Amino acid sequence: MLGLASVFKGTCVAKQNLMTKLVSNPFLRSGLFIVIAAGLASLLFPEFVQGIFRADQFMPHATCYLRNPKIIFLHVSSDLLIGSAYVCISTTQAYLVYKASRDIPFHWMFLAFGLFIITCGFTHFMEVWTVWQAVYWLAGYVKVLCAAASVATAIALFPLVPKVFALINAVKVSEDRRVKLEAANRELEGFAYSVAHDLRSPLRTIQGMAGALQEDCGPRMEATALQYTDRIRDASHRMDALIRDMLAYSQIIRTEADLGPVDLRAAFEEAQTHLAADVGQSGAEIQVHSAFPGVIGNRILLTQVLANLLSNAVKFVPAGVRPSVKVFTKEAGQTVRICVQDNGIGIAQEHREKIFRIFERLHSNTAYPGTGIGLAIVERAMQRMNGAVGCESTLGKGSCFWIELLKA
Ligand code: ADP
Repeated sequence: MLGLASVFKGTCVAKQNLMTKLVSNPFLRSGLFIVIAAGLASLLFPEFVQGIFRADQFMPHATCYLRNPKIIFLHVSSDLLIGSAYVCISTTQAYLVYKASRDIPFHWMFLAFGLFIITCGFTHFMEVWTVWQAVYWLAGYVKVLCAAASVATAIALFPLVPKVFALINAVKVSEDRRVKLEAANRELEGFAYSVAHDLRSPLRTIQGMAGALQEDCGPRMEATALQYTDRIRDASHRMDALIRDMLAYSQIIRTEADLGPVDLRAAFEEAQTHLAADVGQSGAEIQVHSAFPGVIGNRILLTQVLANLLSNAVKFVPAGVRPSVKVFTKEAGQTVRICVQDNGIGIAQEHREKIFRIFERLHSNTAYPGTGIGLAIVERAMQRMNGAVGCESTLGKGSCFWIELLKA
């Protein structure tokens, strides 16, 4: 009993789903409307509907063609091809409108065109039919439909003309804006680059002078004065690091990267040499756990990415913990995923996206020194190499930063 009830319930739900689909889809709704209208017409006006298909005493067109197979073939094949092409064109158009109605302006106009084209197609199919059967009444009514669709489309087209011109103008204006915006962006990037570049030279002077002051006058200076000069030197070092990272970041944005096969192992080893000092200082251990397949990328960018990820993995560990970093690769289809896993402080779920934004840091400079540009560089560099970057982490247990590139 229970089984029967659930089967009945399932059938009801399926019917309900079908009805909802029919009613919500405009194409199915129109089809349904036509079927219902035809059914009603044949019920209400049965004689009229039967009359549509009558041939009376008329002769089929083949008689006019004197049943000559060549001329019959010429007309029938041409009409069939034209009719089929019309049907193809209008169904493609209807599919496009159905899929992208929100993005196509005046999409109802395309539907009107589609209706006009498909009714034209049917008039050609009727030409084929009437070669052998004199269903001229039906052919005439199909022409009436075609005439109605053509006239309606023609009338609807006129008011559209000024709107289309307005649309073309709007597109031109937004294209102009896009070009201007691109030029302004390029100018801004160039500006950021030269500002960062030019700031370094006065900064060097500040660093040099603070050093000279301590060396030459240190013995004669009071403890407070010495403390102040120390702070000047620290601040200028930090500013130097910031400018260096900003330059690296804007360099990645400004320059196109040549992509090609890159030896991942070589890039990894080069990145490790950049970090030799940090690794030596912290006593970090970096282990490689799998083979390094070749990837498609850019050697300089990939080295920069790996150096940034390794440097963070070594840096963000709780005080007193020896950093332990595992590097391994995973191959999936056409891509290679390179994972850098650490035993560090981890990152809370809600921060995992924002850390890739420039200047975004989760800790003070005294807890963990840095500029907040490293991961922004990683993300930009991965975009340049058509790759991806991401992070998995458990707070307090460590993080795994991964990058993905195409296999060479
Ligand atoms: P920086 O290292 O100079 O602070 P990044 O852009 O490299 O800048 O990183 C941004 C922030 O993301 C860091 O300040 C840190 O809070 C967090 N972070 C990055 N890597 C790790 C990691 N391996 N473990 C924990 N936190 C990390």
